[in-house]
Amino acid sequence: MNSVLRVFSYLRRYPGLATAQFFCATLMAVAVVFFPKIAQFVIDEIVPDPSRHHELLFWVLLALGSYFLKDGLNCARIFVNNHFEQNVIYDIRSDLYRKIQRLPLNWFDSRRTGDIMTRVVEDVTSMERVLIDGIELGLVASIQLVAVGLVMYLTDWQVALWATLPIPVLLAGAWIYSKDARHRHKAERNATSALNSLLHDNIAGIRQIKSYAAEAEEHANFNRLSNNVRAATLHLMKWWAIYNPSMSFASMLGYVLVLGFGAQAMIAGRMTVGDLTFFFLLLGLFYEPVSKLRQLNQMIFSSRAAGDRVFEILDSEDEPNAASGDSLPAGIRAHVRFEGVSFSYGSQPTLHQVDLDAPPGRTIALVGSTGAGKSTVLSLLNRFYEADEGTITIDGIDIATLAKPSLREQLGYVTQEPFLFNGTVRENMELARRKATDEEIWTALEAAHAAKFVRDLPKQLDTNVGERGVKLSGGEKQRLSIARALLKNAPVLLLDEATASVDSETERQIQDALDRLMENRTAFVIAHRLSTIRNADKIYVLEKGRVIEEGTHEELFARDGKYADLCRKSFLSQEGEPAVN
Ligand code: ADP
Repeated sequence: MNSVLRVFSYLRRYPGLATAQFFCATLMAVAVVFFPKIAQFVIDEIVPDPSRHHELLFWVLLALGSYFLKDGLNCARIFVNNHFEQNVIYDIRSDLYRKIQRLPLNWFDSRRTGDIMTRVVEDVTSMERVLIDGIELGLVASIQLVAVGLVMYLTDWQVALWATLPIPVLLAGAWIYSKDARHRHKAERNATSALNSLLHDNIAGIRQIKSYAAEAEEHANFNRLSNNVRAATLHLMKWWAIYNPSMSFASMLGYVLVLGFGAQAMIAGRMTVGDLTFFFLLLGLFYEPVSKLRQLNQMIFSSRAAGDRVFEILDSEDEPNAASGDSLPAGIRAHVRFEGVSFSYGSQPTLHQVDLDAPPGRTIALVGSTGAGKSTVLSLLNRFYEADEGTITIDGIDIATLAKPSLREQLGYVTQEPFLFNGTVRENMELARRKATDEEIWTALEAAHAAKFVRDLPKQLDTNVGERGVKLSGGEKQRLSIARALLKNAPVLLLDEATASVDSETERQIQDALDRLMENRTAFVIAHRLSTIRNADKIYVLEKGRVIEEGTHEELFARDGKYADLCRKSFLSQEGEPAVN
């Protein structure tokens, strides 16, 4: 459906506000013709008749009253419209955010964050223009056009006919202008979005830009995209610069025609001075909405381009089973199995016929070179993506049949690069358990060796950690994210071991925290440290998406295959030190 109509479909939710708006606009249109009518009456009836001169003040005050009424109604209408429009924008933004949370991860893989942000923040605001100005210009102007046109025709249909002559020209002009307007506006929105995306990326990567001394290149990149915005906007404005004055000229022709034919009607005795004055005043009121409708044309196309981009998100398909599906029974044993699982992100197969068995409480280590598919195993278990073939089960229940929230409640996921939100320590911990008490939080922090440094923070649990946790060190972030997983206390643990080096004391603390985390849990660990691998109950070696070896450290080492090779090449670093992956 046309985006503009879709925006208007949101208006249906507020019938009371819509009716109030329409009511005010109609009364306003009626109120505007009072002044010309009073002017005509004063010129034709009061001025020539000395016995009625004393009435002049009354009529002047009445004229003043008519404007007061019109603008009073307008004030009420604007108030109503503000609420109306902000309610609708709120609804659209809320729908958009809900939708974004339900979109599958592969949707995000192929999009730039800056672009998504532009759509949610800027494009929704641009759509708002069609609501404020669309209603202001469209509704008020249309009603006024019809009301004034009617009065003109009732006064003198011949002169009125000349006055309406420019209308077909204006319509034709609007049609020509509109033909490509959508593309012009879309090009401008896309250019703006590309600029925002680059800005978002560069601000997030400001440390890298500085450390590689890439400021000049990035500035040039920024200017290139900024220039695209300039070019697209100038292209838009060029058309507007031609269209607007030409249409203004066409409508002014109406004045000239009315002057000519109105004067002729006066000469023929069909019109009085008052009539012609009345006509001229009406004409101003007749062309004013025409000019507003012209601007509306421009605005609709701009809003439509923004609306297209917003509705494209709203129309994307949700991740399957985002909320529906079965629930896992309470107190699961957490026996996880992959049976014949295959998966591909796109055309290239990533996992082939993978079989894994993680009995309750056991630790499974996934080993392999970069790109072997280890993280993909964890992503499938999280159901960030759906397996193409085979089944993944927990206690014999196929996870594809489960509602995602029910599945994910059972999983504690510690990523390689711990992600902290820009909030307090407490808020970051509460992500794992919404109503955790301070005592529970401290216990988890204690177990993760994080309590000491949190206690030293200026506001302890209420200290803000900065965007992505920039105010904390790498080791601190890791321990906080382990504490978060401990607090969640999920029976299945997915752990992507960090490869970044930290000092040996921190390393020992992290290792100890991880050992506690893995205790009594079924754990899948993407292991980079020999110590973790040795402690695992079973090791799976992946290569190019296949399991090529499985067994314990001793068994695999004795086999002298890929695992032994990997150990010799990289894991033979000092015990406890991260290995090169
Ligand atoms: P590992 O964790 O073993 O390093 P991954 O599971 O991350 O390997 O990646 C396996 C393969 O899948 C790689 O070839 C990688 O390029 C590809 N891949 C990983 N994530 C994505 C993604 N989101 N979209 C497309 N391809 C991906």
